[in-house]
Amino acid sequence: MKKLSLGLLAGAGLFIGLFTNVAMAEEIVVVHAGTLLAVPGQAVQTQQSIIIADGKIRKVVAGYVEPQALIGEGDALIASYDLKDKFVLPGMIDSHVHLTAELNPRGRLEAVEMSDPDRAILAAGYAYKTLMAGFTTVRDVGARGGDAIFALRDGIEKGLVVGPRVYASGSTISVTGGHGDGTQGYRDDIAHMMMSSGVCDGAAECRKAVREQVRRGADHIKLTATGGVLSNTAAGLGQQFFNDELEAIMDTAHSMGRRVTAHAHGADGINSALRAGVDSIEHGTYLDNESIRLFKRKGAYLVPTILAGVTVTEWANDPKGFLLPAQRAKAKQVGPRMLEMARKAHEAGVKIAFGTDSGVSAHGDNARELALLVEAGMTPMEALQSATIMAADNMGQGDHFGKITPGLAADIIAVDGDPLSDISVMMEIAFVMKDGVAYKGN
Ligand SMILES: [Zn+2]
Repeated sequence: MKKLSLGLLAGAGLFIGLFTNVAMAEEIVVVHAGTLLAVPGQAVQTQQSIIIADGKIRKVVAGYVEPQALIGEGDALIASYDLKDKFVLPGMIDSHVHLTAELNPRGRLEAVEMSDPDRAILAAGYAYKTLMAGFTTVRDVGARGGDAIFALRDGIEKGLVVGPRVYASGSTISVTGGHGDGTQGYRDDIAHMMMSSGVCDGAAECRKAVREQVRRGADHIKLTATGGVLSNTAAGLGQQFFNDELEAIMDTAHSMGRRVTAHAHGADGINSALRAGVDSIEHGTYLDNESIRLFKRKGAYLVPTILAGVTVTEWANDPKGFLLPAQRAKAKQVGPRMLEMARKAHEAGVKIAFGTDSGVSAHGDNARELALLVEAGMTPMEALQSATIMAADNMGQGDHFGKITPGLAADIIAVDGDPLSDISVMMEIAFVMKDGVAYKGN
């Protein structure tokens, strides 16, 4: 990369701006891309120049145009990047992460040892790993550690911490004793340490629980419609909220401008959440033909998290593994089914947004899900679409990121090799830029 010291030019631009009413100086960054997949799903182009102004894509032009020739009057060229030998594409988006934790044998002890500031620091490290793995945006769907996730999100936004753009749900909305109730299996006298403002029973309490997350700063709402693998309770994998509670959650969230996503394994929970108007389903393990019909009728997304299935299956089959009996039994049920579930949904034309459940699997390994989506029947191009434009659309942010087109955030990554012929090259990211700032390969 060439770093250009043009403080003088920037100063001159500002001067002109002040005295001749010309637009204020914009900071220009130029990327020369050898192979460019600007919009996953469309054709690849070669030898392109990407012009970025103040962190957003200004335009993409054919050929390797000299950076100096691309800047307008008053603009300041601050950097240019030579990716002529790379495959360049939009930064990836993970729709399902838990940045304030990573499952490990000490997890249940850490729940009572770690303070909220400890969680925030831990999450900053995981956020860094996630960005370096080529993920420039993540949706955090349920966080331990009080307001740590919001502090992390805001710290990244302000440039105090290096990480992906974070959309956070805060606490998961769950029934008492349900998958999102973190007190399970702890003594009553310490259970209060794990209590969350997302636990609710009955429509009125559930409205309040949603409003409480919005008050705390939630960007979207996550609920647990069914039991889950890693909660320490043998309460099955079926529906946990009653229909009136589900409707109360959806109506409250939507009236406050928040999308809702539902963790759901059992078909009854998937279908009741879809009927109540949920925007997406996480996992979807036992989805049936009725689920597929509802997904398509409602336009809802599925986030299959196959990597989580693979990870819990590995643990369940490890005799020295640390899963508790209730967790192990559910892991053996769910894990092996997820690949076939994703295949069935994809073949039926359900919209699929990329998501990993990282925090169950290790943070930074997010791109492993791409190969699993290909194993489930997607083409590499479809897998990259699901990790970019589909995931952005699922978050209602398709006009803001997910493509390298004018007006969108300059979130750009690059790899050696061709992911369209070998998706595994996405495990080695050579270059990462978010909002026009390069964090790797610069
Ligand atoms: Zn999860």
